[in-house]
Amino acid sequence: VHTNIDSAVYDITVASDENTPYHHYFNGPHSIPGAHCPNCDRPLLCFLTLDTRDPRLCMMDMPFSALPLLYCWTCTISFEEFYYRLNADGGGVTLLKYGNGIDANRNFAPDEVPLYFPLSPVELIKMTDEQVAFMDRLRNGETVFAAGDWVDTPTHQLGGLPHLCQGWDDPMFICPMCGKEMPFLAAITDQVFPADIFESALIDIVYSYCADCHVVGAIHQCD
Ligand SMILES: [Zn+2]
Ligand SMILES: [Zn+2]
Repeated sequence: VHTNIDSAVYDITVASDENTPYHHYFNGPHSIPGAHCPNCDRPLLCFLTLDTRDPRLCMMDMPFSALPLLYCWTCTISFEEFYYRLNADGGGVTLLKYGNGIDANRNFAPDEVPLYFPLSPVELIKMTDEQVAFMDRLRNGETVFAAGDWVDTPTHQLGGLPHLCQGWDDPMFICPMCGKEMPFLAAITDQVFPADIFESALIDIVYSYCADCHVVGAIHQCD
């Protein structure tokens, strides 16, 4: 499976300096046409906005300046695969497929989750070869390591192959428009939210992206 990103793996982390050259950011309000939850009748949360001018993303030929990674905590929208397309005129998104409805398995009631979390600029930190090699060992199911083998791995990951909190089975995304397998784009964990509502679980939201169709796929993984 190829990736959209240049061959590197990046840690997506809160920027130490707000004067970053590209405008990538976690959270914040948005006014993206179509980015509205059909189950909850409220705006979808935008976890991460990627600035497509950044050459590291290999998305500079896209007709959009920003790629939003959307989600909803208050329904089951991503308990099944959730797909949306970025409209070619740069005017918002069209939801293609989603978990339909609100049931007892949803994460939170609407009054527990704000309409958006505060915006924070992020920077992309390239993982070293040593870190990528260690992530590969974890992905391959290795559990026994020498003390000196441990290196930091990304909390939120862009590019490469997904290193997930919830086990090592990669979710498979098939683009609903072209029928091809969609490359992994990013994995965002619940650590992205400056809120104490995520006490007990380790949650990964896994995103994939079909560059041909401008379709984003997302799925929620939680124990
Ligand atoms: Zn919802
Ligand atoms: Zn496609």
